[in-house]
Amino acid sequence: HVRATGGNRWQFFNHETDRMVRERILMKRALKEAIEGNELRLEYQPQICADDNTVYGFEALARWHSPSYGEVPPYKFITMAEETGDIKALGEWVIREACRQMAEWKLSGVRIHSVSVNLSALNFRCPYLPSVIAGLLKEYHLPGNMLTIEITESAMLEFDSGILKRIQEIRDLDVGLSIDDFGTGYSSLSRLTGLPVTELKIDKSFIDRFQYDEKVAVLVKAITGIGRSMGMSVVAEGVETKDQLELLKKIGTSEIVIQGYYFSRPLPADMVPDWLTLYAENEF
Ligand code: C2E
Ligand code: MG
Ligand code: MG
Ligand code: MG
Repeated sequence: HVRATGGNRWQFFNHETDRMVRERILMKRALKEAIEGNELRLEYQPQICADDNTVYGFEALARWHSPSYGEVPPYKFITMAEETGDIKALGEWVIREACRQMAEWKLSGVRIHSVSVNLSALNFRCPYLPSVIAGLLKEYHLPGNMLTIEITESAMLEFDSGILKRIQEIRDLDVGLSIDDFGTGYSSLSRLTGLPVTELKIDKSFIDRFQYDEKVAVLVKAITGIGRSMGMSVVAEGVETKDQLELLKKIGTSEIVIQGYYFSRPLPADMVPDWLTLYAENEF
């Protein structure tokens, strides 16, 4: 092992790199244990129909509070799980937990239309994914249309014929298929004709800019138009202010679903019933 040829600074970096590599290995091991040990949690973010203010559904977002590392953000642990292959177990856990939670809400009289879960492109490589989903819907006595699978537009680039077949099988269960972060993935619009898509989610980056940039506003309006005329739901991600909400309605996109901090941050599952009660009592 050759070290410290260039003085202290170089040695420091070497130590630092070693430390980071070791840390990452340990963290990946902890993540595997967290997935297997049911230590992950889902938070649920409400989605609201802009035209009549009814609750459209919730997006389930994975959370990892590690005893050793604290709250680890999803972009970090999802990437790690993709690198280790643990994303398969994570994806299946997320679907199971969302179904379990919906069944629990159903039994206790909490009315939820649907929950969306996020899957990585790698999850679609698993030939059993459709039967795993079918099995979970059956186990928890849920109709397929209470579940939506979100896949990012950039992940669509990796789709081969096997994956397309599995997506169709999932759609045949009446499960929804949503294209997440739409508009950022460099995929061609013709992709939309070959896939059984039920929902488009306009990426937050457009919602951040459309008030200040006329061209972005035109895009948001056009995407909504394309989605709606193809019979899809269209969701705007990351709506934070009343101004954004009002402007979305004004540019003629009242047939849009709003998701963002303006209505609510993602909520722990046990806060969802109270949130629904409060929401029903208040005017937004
Ligand atoms: P995403 O699927 O696009 O989820 C939306 C993200 O935007 C969430 O971040 C949400 O908390 C955040 N968000 C929602 N409304 C607002 C808003 O008004 N303002 C701002 N600033 N942010 C808002 P989160 O929970 O950190 O998740 C980040 C990404 O991690 C997700 O993006 C998704 O790609 C991925 N992810 C989360 N959970 C899972 C999972 O269970 N499986 C997989 N494969 N990916 C997941
Ligand atoms: Mg999503
Ligand atoms: Mg998104
Ligand atoms: Mg996004």
